[in-house]
Amino acid sequence: MATSVKLNTGADMPILGLGTWSSPPGKVTDAVKAAIAAGYRHIDGAFIYQNETEVGEGIHAMVKEGVVKREELFVVSKLWCTFHGKSLVKEGCQNTLSDLKLDYLDLYLIHWPMGFQAMEELVDAGLVKAIGVSNFNKDQIESILNKPGLKYKPANNQVECHPYLNQEKLINYCHSKGISVTAYSPLGSPDRPWTKPEDPSLLEDPNIKAIAEKHKKTSAQVLIRFQIQRNTIVIPKSITPTRIQENFKVFDFVLSDEEMKTILGFNRNWRVCPMTGGMKHKDYPFDAEF
Ligand code: NDP
Repeated sequence: MATSVKLNTGADMPILGLGTWSSPPGKVTDAVKAAIAAGYRHIDGAFIYQNETEVGEGIHAMVKEGVVKREELFVVSKLWCTFHGKSLVKEGCQNTLSDLKLDYLDLYLIHWPMGFQAMEELVDAGLVKAIGVSNFNKDQIESILNKPGLKYKPANNQVECHPYLNQEKLINYCHSKGISVTAYSPLGSPDRPWTKPEDPSLLEDPNIKAIAEKHKKTSAQVLIRFQIQRNTIVIPKSITPTRIQENFKVFDFVLSDEEMKTILGFNRNWRVCPMTGGMKHKDYPFDAEF
């Protein structure tokens, strides 16, 4: 089983990374350290998570201890919407680099679909190795790919993805264009601030539990393995060392084709992150079929 995905830049992106949204600054340094100690080599962050300084502290502590070298890590961040103006893109990236105390990012994503080409200069300036998008639908990706003078194709589209929103069509489309996909909220984001009691729970889903029991694994491990087996990069978030370790123990079992099909059948187009505040924006991505 491959533990990385080849990007259209030629770089290898580790297929499993640590998510850091809503990881409190006081906890995330230890979470990053626990993840690197457990074998994670990919850390997913963003300016808007307001914890990049502490994420960086975790990285530097492990580099200092000799556990990893910077170049063995794959560090991802995202440009927030307030920096979309062409003149602000570099500033946004430099803020993140200075918070993380890094010279470069391995992948820099535009967090929500409004603009992309201004990101290209960051590759030319050596500040980022690859650029990508997040929360883009098919038409929005297509319009980037059709832009005259496009210098760098997006290397990655990071989207919400789990069995209740399996993104089958979008993933197939992206893969057909050489764009890798990262699944965010792969466990259904149980700690999202807007959770409601009537919302479905992936971790409690008896059908997923049954598959997990068959493999003597946990539901979380099945949800993570499901993505890996579709060649989709996956970034479960945890600040709990035992869970961080558990979530990495997914390379020693295989879901059968039938189990994969069964899990795909759980789709119900349910979103953790509908970004309701942006529904009226002309580029709101989630009205399209995919
Ligand atoms: P996840 O689906 O990763 O769920 C995280 C939650 O699951 C936390 O409450 C965590 O608890 C809990 N958890 C983790 N592992 C286990 C386990 N083994 N058993 C039981 N519970 C577990 O949600 P996120 O929404 O955080 O998504 C993951 C990452 O994706 C984000 O952190 C962020 O990096 C990225 N993301 C990107 C977005 C974008 O717009 N591009 C939007 C949303 C997310 P605890 O931490 O307490 O252990």
